[in-house]
Formats: sequence, C-alpha cells, structure tokens
Amino acid sequence: MQNASSKLKQTLFVFLLSTITFTSLAQTNKYAVYALKFATLNFKIPVAFTAVGTTRKDSTEICYILYLLKGNNKTILVDAGFTETPPTYNIQAFTYVRPDSILKKLNINPNDITDIILTHPHWDHIGGIDLFPNAMVWMQEQDFNYFVGTAWQKDIDNSTFNSKDVHKIIQKNIDKKLTLIKGDSIEIMPNIRVFTGSKHSYESQYVSVGTDTDKVIIASDNSWFYYNLTSLLSVPITFDQKAYVQNLKRMKNMVKNIDFILPGHDKLVFSKFQKIVDDIVKIK
Ligand SMILES: [Zn+2]
Repeated sequence: MQNASSKLKQTLFVFLLSTITFTSLAQTNKYAVYALKFATLNFKIPVAFTAVGTTRKDSTEICYILYLLKGNNKTILVDAGFTETPPTYNIQAFTYVRPDSILKKLNINPNDITDIILTHPHWDHIGGIDLFPNAMVWMQEQDFNYFVGTAWQKDIDNSTFNSKDVHKIIQKNIDKKLTLIKGDSIEIMPNIRVFTGSKHSYESQYVSVGTDTDKVIIASDNSWFYYNLTSLLSVPITFDQKAYVQNLKRMKNMVKNIDFILPGHDKLVFSKFQKIVDDIVKIK
C-alpha cells in the first residue's frame, strides 16, 4: 500500500520522465545537411556576369547543386535540379548526372523524397520535381502565381523559365502535392524556416535549417557564390538589386560563419566541407 509521499514521488518521477521524453523528441527536429553536385557548365564565365559592379576580370566555374536534409523522419530536397535545358541552352554544354541518379550514391530512392522546398522556379531548380512522385513541393504563392501566369504574357522576359515546368508544377497541384507559402519568415516544418525578399525570381525564398549544433542557411540563388556574400554584390538576375543586397546582409546576420550560408552555384561548397563520395559533401 502506497502512502501519500511515495505517490507524490511517483507522480514527480512520471512528470520528469515525460519532460525528458519531450526534450529528446524536440532535439530530434534537427537535420543533417548534404550538398550534391549534379551538373557543371563546361566553360567558365566572367565573374563580372555574376556580381554587378565588381572590378574583377577573371572567370569562374558554375556548378549546379541539390541540397538534401535528413531528419524529423523526412528526406527533403531544397530544389530539384533539372532534367532538360530550355531551348536557348544546349545540354552538351554541361557535365550532367540526373538528380535522382546522384541521390543513389547515398542510397536514396526517388520515392523516399518526402518534400521539395523550391527556392524559385528557374529551369535549373524546378525541372526535376517530376522525378520525385511522393514529394510535397513547397513554394512561395507569389512566385507560383507569377510563374504560371504573368511570366508568359506578351513582352515579359521568361528566358529563365522552361514552359514544360509550368505543366509539371500544375500537375503537382492537381495531385495535391503542392503547398503554397504566403510570405516571409515562415516555419514550414519544425526547425525549417523560409525567408523572402531578395527577388531573384518574383518571390524567391531561402531556407534556414536547424542542425545538431546550430543552423545553416541554404541561400540557393539568393547568393549564387560566396563572392556575392563577401563583396555584397547582387547577381544580375533579380527584380530588385537593392533588395538582393539587403538580403545578403540579412543572411550574414543569421549565422556566425558565412561558410554556412550555402550558395546556389559555387564549387567552393565541395572543398569547404567533409567529402562523403565524389560530388557529395556533408555540411553538418
Ligand atoms: Zn540557379
């Protein structure tokens, strides 16, 4: 028979245990972050084409990156790469592995991808979404509306888009596999928050991800290269260069070490971090 004091102890113990369980569950809302290089342009381009106002005269390589997040029972891609080029580009200009093939190096099947966070719908970031049939795609509502509507009106420059990708994202919507995000600083999943404002596309977004030790920012094309961050120079493709630079500064205020602001097209990512296999590094 229990007395009042041992009952109290038992209650306290159960309370303590539930607190511990809750804390450890909260800690599992952290992600491992990988970068996968699935394509490289076969020639260099002048740095002047990548950073508006630079005095540099040299050229730089361009690579194409998928970011992968694993944790919280999810396998998430930030952007989906491409499967073909728009008419103005030639696939022969690229050294290329299809995005679902490079994931096999990490033993990840295309069906395993639970979510794709699209930073913007340019052809080199959205084209792979149909490779991942189970994935819920997350994109900014204003970016979606512009991409499927205004972008194709007379006299609008749509050279960064592939019209076939419009059909792919509409199909995702019909399949109930599209979530439209409305605005800035929104936590879309535990420890994953998206930010807008740099206007690389009509309403491009970047992603803050909680990791074991801290967080990383996946800038994608909201900073093409580390050089854009260090020089605070905009890329030429944006609706608003001032807003672009403002958001470079904003990202720099979010982390202690700018190595952890991960750019969209910089091969330095693959020398700064721990190599897992060829063309894949673990960020955190
Ligand atoms: Zn890009």
